[in-house]
Amino acid sequence: MGKPTGFMEYERLDRSYAPVADRVTHYQEFVIPLSEDQLRIQGARCMDCGIPFCHQGCPVNNIIPEWNDLVYRGDWETALEVLHSTNNFPEVTGRICPAPCQESCTLNLQDEPVTIKTIECAIVDKGWEEGWIKPLIPEHRTGKRVAVIGSGPAGLACAQQLARAGHDVVVYEKADRIGGLLRYGIPDFKLDKTLLDRRVAQMRAEGVEFHVSTCVGEDISVEELRGEFDALVMAGGSEEPRDLPVPGRDLDGVYFAMQFLIANSRKVQGVPGADEGFINAEGKHVVVIGGGDTGSDCVGTSTRHGAASITQLELMPRPPEKEVKELTWP
Ligand code: SF4
Repeated sequence: MGKPTGFMEYERLDRSYAPVADRVTHYQEFVIPLSEDQLRIQGARCMDCGIPFCHQGCPVNNIIPEWNDLVYRGDWETALEVLHSTNNFPEVTGRICPAPCQESCTLNLQDEPVTIKTIECAIVDKGWEEGWIKPLIPEHRTGKRVAVIGSGPAGLACAQQLARAGHDVVVYEKADRIGGLLRYGIPDFKLDKTLLDRRVAQMRAEGVEFHVSTCVGEDISVEELRGEFDALVMAGGSEEPRDLPVPGRDLDGVYFAMQFLIANSRKVQGVPGADEGFINAEGKHVVVIGGGDTGSDCVGTSTRHGAASITQLELMPRPPEKEVKELTWP
């Protein structure tokens, strides 16, 4: 723990956003990072709790207090090493994770959690800027071959770990570009796709082979793969949308979120033929059913199209202005 009194001395500070009027005119990221000095101070706010509840909150079990402390001390390179020890792609989680770690932070009992996600993102962004992130090529090959089906975050992380263990890894992706939902499902304004290209290049250098536009079960059979590989990893994700069987569901202009978002991302990313299937909300009165992240992505995309109006409907009651921490924490 770098500074035992840091949490009492320093106010919480987090990244800000570019002005709305500016950011709705484009599809680039709009989060404004903190400076290095500001980040070190934010790292000093971590109390290094005896029981770090943030670990439990984090789905990849990031070792959060350790890298908070390293950032406070200015040892960014070691912080990056510790961060990568649990997380293959912190530049993704540092941008789009809902950050349950922060909900679990002990300082959140007073609504002032450590800005964990911001620090995570800054560590890895700095790592790329400084050239610290390089392909990790295994010294020994096992001679085993593994096929990974699906190139979303699970498939990519799995492929990278297997390749670093010395296996020959081939990733099969049915879409025309690597990344699964990260590529076309998450809008560009939340996740810049050059971040994916950079990781794919790193993985290629580590020996991973990628096959796009290849649907396992159609273009290549499972039997063929089983004959060619020692193991198969099924990382196809969950693409079954939740339908709403109500009168009018079959009318024109009613779409699943992913139809709308994927078609939009393909156009934004300049995929040939993307105009076909593009759903334009310009001048339309849009109703978004669902108030989660995907619903918000549809709102953000419709706004950028220039929708005449947007109404978002949510099943759950409005959350309380202030949580009862004793009931909800950690
Ligand atoms: S923001 Fe990072 S540290 Fe927090 S829960 Fe998500 S992945 Fe874990």
